[in-house]
Amino acid sequence: MNADFTERISHLKPEGAYQVLTRASQLEKQGREIIHFEIGQPDFETPEHIRMAGVRAIQEGKTRYTNPAGMSSLQEAIAASVNLRLDMEINPQQVVVGPGAKPLLFFPTLALVEAGDEVIYPDPGFPTYEAMIRLAGAVPVAVPLLEEGGFSFNLTVFDSLVNSRTRLIILNSPGNPTGAVIPQADLEHIAAKAQEADCWVMSDEIYAHLVYDQMKVPSILSMPGMQQRTILVDGFSKTYAMTGWRLGFGIMPVELAGKVELLLTHSVGSTAHFTQFAGLEALQGDQACVQEMLVEYQRRRDVMVDGLNSLPGVSCRLPQGAFYAFPNIRGTGLSSSQAADLFLEKAGVALLPGTAFGKNGEGYLRLSYATSLENIERGLDALRRVF
Ligand code: PLP
Repeated sequence: MNADFTERISHLKPEGAYQVLTRASQLEKQGREIIHFEIGQPDFETPEHIRMAGVRAIQEGKTRYTNPAGMSSLQEAIAASVNLRLDMEINPQQVVVGPGAKPLLFFPTLALVEAGDEVIYPDPGFPTYEAMIRLAGAVPVAVPLLEEGGFSFNLTVFDSLVNSRTRLIILNSPGNPTGAVIPQADLEHIAAKAQEADCWVMSDEIYAHLVYDQMKVPSILSMPGMQQRTILVDGFSKTYAMTGWRLGFGIMPVELAGKVELLLTHSVGSTAHFTQFAGLEALQGDQACVQEMLVEYQRRRDVMVDGLNSLPGVSCRLPQGAFYAFPNIRGTGLSSSQAADLFLEKAGVALLPGTAFGKNGEGYLRLSYATSLENIERGLDALRRVF
């Protein structure tokens, strides 16, 4: 069998989290106890009323294909929920539902970006961005997110990178791995530049409901002139602890929605029927569950960040959203991967090197606090012992 694979997939590599998880599992098999801070997945169960809506849907035979862009009732509920959050008038034809947020990152990129086009993306950032840019044959152009700039885009560098070849700008707010929210003024600057360069913007807002201290996340979608060139990506995985249900959505101009629907038709067909009913319940049911999880995440964030700041050579900003701490470890004299290896092998604490999110992640680690307070405290104790 000829095992030569295509050039187009040659750059793909596993997400860092899975690599660390594999090593952590090997250590666990040898009898070591490992505390997991590497995976970005809520530890909460999907709230009961949402699970029950999924079960009911299966019992009622909601087990068929649906419209590739999603059930119209779900498109309507998503449009209503986005309109409420952003005070807009999105119409349901602009909503495309998919199995997770990831397809709504991938397919609009495939629909918009030609080989050789340039795509601007955040570094450190979610690894799927670079993977999908390269898969589309485009040129990834990283904008550094620097701690001194609050981990927002460095706008001077950003301005120097936008040119006539720029086709798409990817934003992520609150961001993975930094937890930073892009301020309104920066978004206005980026929006003006996108209009001047006549390019598209993809705004990944999957953590927009997980923000602390009553903060509201501004969205570039609601800025004047931006609806016609913006794809807002969001989903149910993080907000409603529904990672395994696979349910996400994109908001985009109707013409683009039609093209993304074609890509869904010929790849996944449609999103699971009963999953969409669970999503409908998530949006239309009681929202207290989101608030309860948020309160708990905030408590964990505070313990995690205080604990990290008490370690010598480590300093950690308070993340505004998502569930990741992104401490600066330069003062330890260790590189990100040396620190991640050391903490796993010696302290039994699995976490990710900042470099799993791009080269500007050097000098940082990412710890997910989507785990119990007890685990967080045990993990911090183990780290203290190594220090
Ligand atoms: N976008 C960001 C920034 C993420 O961190 C993740 C998941 O980790 C996703 C998108 C993918 O979410 P989904 O599970 O809905 O595909």
